[in-house]
Amino acid sequence: MIVSEKRSCPLCGHRTSNIILEFKISSFDKLHDQHQFSSCMKCGFVYNSDIHFENVLAFYESNDDYLNENAAGSGGTGASDLFRYDIYLKILKNAKLSMESQIVDVGCAKGGFVKYLNQEGFSKASGIELDRALVDKAKGQGIPVQLGAIDSFPHLSNSIDCVCAFHVLEHLFDIESSITEIHRILVNDGLCLVEVPNAGNYSGGRTFPHFWTLIKEHINHFDEYSLSATFSKGGFEVIGCFHQIIPYDNSDFGYPSLMLLLRKNKGNKNLSFNTFRTAEQIKKYFKKSNNQLARLITIFQKWRNENRSVVIWGCSLELQILLSFTCLEQCSIVAIIDKNPLKQGKIIHDIAVRGPELLESITDEGVVLVCSILHSANIVKELKTLAPQLEYETITE
Ligand SMILES: [Zn+2]
Repeated sequence: MIVSEKRSCPLCGHRTSNIILEFKISSFDKLHDQHQFSSCMKCGFVYNSDIHFENVLAFYESNDDYLNENAAGSGGTGASDLFRYDIYLKILKNAKLSMESQIVDVGCAKGGFVKYLNQEGFSKASGIELDRALVDKAKGQGIPVQLGAIDSFPHLSNSIDCVCAFHVLEHLFDIESSITEIHRILVNDGLCLVEVPNAGNYSGGRTFPHFWTLIKEHINHFDEYSLSATFSKGGFEVIGCFHQIIPYDNSDFGYPSLMLLLRKNKGNKNLSFNTFRTAEQIKKYFKKSNNQLARLITIFQKWRNENRSVVIWGCSLELQILLSFTCLEQCSIVAIIDKNPLKQGKIIHDIAVRGPELLESITDEGVVLVCSILHSANIVKELKTLAPQLEYETITE
């Protein structure tokens, strides 16, 4: 692979694209700190063009977020995951899958959905996952998960009744070979249920501003038309399409879900399509996100001008967004804390992430920024016990 080359359109292979958004992000892991969203000049598909396969692999090798029990959407068994699993199960039952059906969850992460299916009586459900640490974690809990790459499954051809792929396609560098592989292992008329974040509706569910454009491992941005066309070209017929906002644990926030139920057939390899609308929707989302940060920008300007000592509690995407799109970086950040042991010790802006016990050493003049949309209420509660003398501000209104 030629590293200096820009990525071609992962849907139609066209080599030229228009850059619709480009911004520098505050890098947490030094892998890539430039975000470039391009729209294919032939089909309009929006994808990250300035990204290379080696970097994507290196990102996953260095990233342990998916191992975290509390991480929603990575095969866990938290309330928001179970809520989604109920939705998937209803669709699969309506599609007349039997308890004896061979079901494979591709990119199953910690294997939560496989476990759920097994508990619901689908005894032949199993999973495939690329990340060895996640496979080991699932196996340790007795969940049938195998190690397997997304373009070479360990299954015989025509052997599987249903393939599920939730939150997978938006991550793939090479989409076509993965769909070919799903097609290969499915029996004729076999089913495939896929879910991706709906790029046609990023602003539909409430999340933190810029959330959907700053998840750097999301390198493909599908809407209903591009996802349907991709599978039609890969030999599938769309038999169901579902749009909905799926709530996280904290019901204030929601995931703009797009699901397709597909049936293996001959498809239409020569299908031509275009989806230029998505680029406009993503640009609008970006603008709206900038406007939504206005309140926090005013607060940070004040802290910066008063030279307040700022302690940040919460070291996730929200912090990365604030460091990238506001003047928080110019404030006097004296500490970054996070309860997740996997994050403690990481260096961000030359500061080592520490546990909440660090608060005891912060003087009364400091201010704490509660920097989490999902855990805000819990952090505030804990903060009032640990350091009642400290003023705090939350990133949520
Ligand atoms: Zn294209």
